[in-house]
Amino acid sequence: MTRQALSVASECVPLVKTGGLADVVGALPGAMAGQGWALRTLLPGYPAVLKQTGQGTIVWSDDDLFGGPASLRAMQAAGLDLLILDAPHLYSREGQIYLDTNGRDWPDNPKRYAALSWVAAAIADGALPDWRPEIVHVHDWQAALTPTYLRMRNAQTPTLLTVHNVAFHGNAPAEWLEALRLPADRFTAVGFEFYGQISALKAGLVDATAISTVSPTYARELLDPSFGMGLDGVIATRASVLHGVLNGIDTAIWDPATDPLIKPYKTPRGKARNRAALIETFGLEAGAEDGPLCIVVSRLSDQKGLDILAEAVPRLLEAGGMLALLGSGDPVLEARFQDLADAYPRVGVRIGYSEPLSHQMFAGADAVLVPSRFEPCGLTQLYGLRYGAVPVVARTGGLADTVIDANTMALNAGVATGLQFGPVTAEALGHALDHLVALYRQPAVFARMQRNGMAQALGWGPSAAVYADIYAKLTG
Ligand code: ADP
Repeated sequence: MTRQALSVASECVPLVKTGGLADVVGALPGAMAGQGWALRTLLPGYPAVLKQTGQGTIVWSDDDLFGGPASLRAMQAAGLDLLILDAPHLYSREGQIYLDTNGRDWPDNPKRYAALSWVAAAIADGALPDWRPEIVHVHDWQAALTPTYLRMRNAQTPTLLTVHNVAFHGNAPAEWLEALRLPADRFTAVGFEFYGQISALKAGLVDATAISTVSPTYARELLDPSFGMGLDGVIATRASVLHGVLNGIDTAIWDPATDPLIKPYKTPRGKARNRAALIETFGLEAGAEDGPLCIVVSRLSDQKGLDILAEAVPRLLEAGGMLALLGSGDPVLEARFQDLADAYPRVGVRIGYSEPLSHQMFAGADAVLVPSRFEPCGLTQLYGLRYGAVPVVARTGGLADTVIDANTMALNAGVATGLQFGPVTAEALGHALDHLVALYRQPAVFARMQRNGMAQALGWGPSAAVYADIYAKLTG
């Protein structure tokens, strides 16, 4: 018999995405269906989402959800079973989902997502006449107050909090306790107080029945003060219910043999036409002695370590390499890469967000660079593996778990899939890039690495089984 679960998040592919969280939330229902679990996904009713899903059927409403009327719309859309929280005073806005048109966080973000969590708790506690989940799976700080609200209701529904990035806490000033409908007596060090503020993520870490994160290495790192962003101590108190479950990718969407956005191929050799197209798209000055064409597809933020890549670019170019970057975010980094593109004909930069261009980049690239300072799982190295773009990654989090470093033993055994480096410095990255170029100049060795990567099992199967195991334990 199929069992019922509610998944709660602020973004979900293909409806709305700012990062890897959306990929995971969008892929989980399909993956869990194979494990006997039907997931219903609760999302905020951003205008762009409602435009794609249609109006559905109203299954619940409230005259005053954190300051305005709200309703829940149920529908099937984009292959998902959805509950969309339509609350115009919270979600119907110009700009991005988290940011206003000036690129600043919406000041009421804590309230916008507390409302989402409030409704999730209501659903879990029986607010819908004909559906009730056995478990609630909440993602990141935006859904992390759900376990706390359930606790306030004395509801027994178990919860799993998945931490996709511990850097984002969803903090609010202490004065917002009432506005967020939170009990003052739990605004303490063992509750959801965090350095004088209300922390949604901490609330979830304390109150969720179990916690997971998106790779085994990041699960260990979360206990370490240098990665835990101040929450390592809290997480340590929950270590017995902390799981590291590696993200998969949607191998139907990300399949170089059938991808409609590229010139499809099944072997590394088949990448050549895509490589030529990519060189043209970015207007790169290519020549006969070319080294590897490297790409970056990323948010431009301090986490991603792209400042050290900027430092290492001259060294990559001297060795014959090329760089094409697609990303947006930090204006300082945007300008820095734009300057590099202006200075060097073998560097191309697109500031912006483009799903189709990202596919074309993985298809055309020889290597994908991911020099993150921390990386809970990381998806672009997985897309790189799948598309024969050899990942060069920092040895951290999910990057360490998914790329087999081309050390001597791995090369001799013919199992290497990429390169790992550490620490995250321009010097260490420069060494890795020198190594990449040297491997690239040995076509048989390089093609072997590409083939190894393309043959990796990157789908959701194994991880869905682990989640099913966790769900089963929590629901008894
Ligand atoms: P994070 O969630 O920290 O941003 P991940 O590697 O887990 O990092 O996921 C990022 C996702 O967003 C990947 O699917 C990646 O391809 C995509 N992405 C990031 N920046 C862009 C961009 N500028 N254009 C298209 N896709 C992007």
